[in-house]
Amino acid sequence: MPDIAAAYQEVAQRMALAAARAGRAPDTVTLVAVSKTRSAPEIREAIEAGARDLGENYVQEMVDKHELFAGEAIDLRWHAIGHLQRNKVRFIAPFCALVHSVDSPRLADEIGVRAAAHGHTQPVLLEVNIAAEDSKTGAAVESVPELAQHVADLPNVELRGLMAMTPYGAPDHVLRRLFSATRELAERIGRDLPPGSMDQLSMGMSQDYEIAVEEGATLVRVGTAIFGARQS
Ligand SMILES: *Cc1c(COP(=O)(O)O)cnc(C)c1O
Repeated sequence: MPDIAAAYQEVAQRMALAAARAGRAPDTVTLVAVSKTRSAPEIREAIEAGARDLGENYVQEMVDKHELFAGEAIDLRWHAIGHLQRNKVRFIAPFCALVHSVDSPRLADEIGVRAAAHGHTQPVLLEVNIAAEDSKTGAAVESVPELAQHVADLPNVELRGLMAMTPYGAPDHVLRRLFSATRELAERIGRDLPPGSMDQLSMGMSQDYEIAVEEGATLVRVGTAIFGARQS
């Protein structure tokens, strides 16, 4: 097994350095350790190194892992980062800390209904297809202002910001431009929304989290750089 604890600490340190380069305090960025496909011992090692925010793509896996660690004294925050089907929302509604991937009004409506059933409010981000890639999920940039207004008006849903994915293997200058475009979009639409609606930017993965932090990310989603290459 690779040294997950050392890798986690290295990512955290590189994030802090990137934040400092941008004149930001290190605690303005949260490291979400993307634990999809990882075993319980692997996740435990990351937790022992300090991980408290865990990102999962698949609902069933997220539910199982939440159960697995629920009995322990440590409070973990489970982030839903993958494409979310409406008929799966009810399974994560009881415990999900943040949904990163709202990309339609209908999905947001369902999240609100399920949160209300549990008597709470679900924090969410809107996923933006910032590079306009055919293969990627996420709302088209031009549809985001209207989607944001819709979500901001929903009871039991708390709009917090945007999430963006970048093309795999793109050169640094392209990644940087996409991250800054995401930040600018959040700033622009945030002017017409209640305060706090666009404060969070989930952007940056193993290939580009340092650039993302320099460009304003408040959450980075890092898997491979912590746990090693995924098998599947
Ligand atoms: C898998 C995944 C990540 C992590 O990617 P790595 O390259 O392993 O860091 C981040 N965000 C989303 C949405 C993912 O699906």
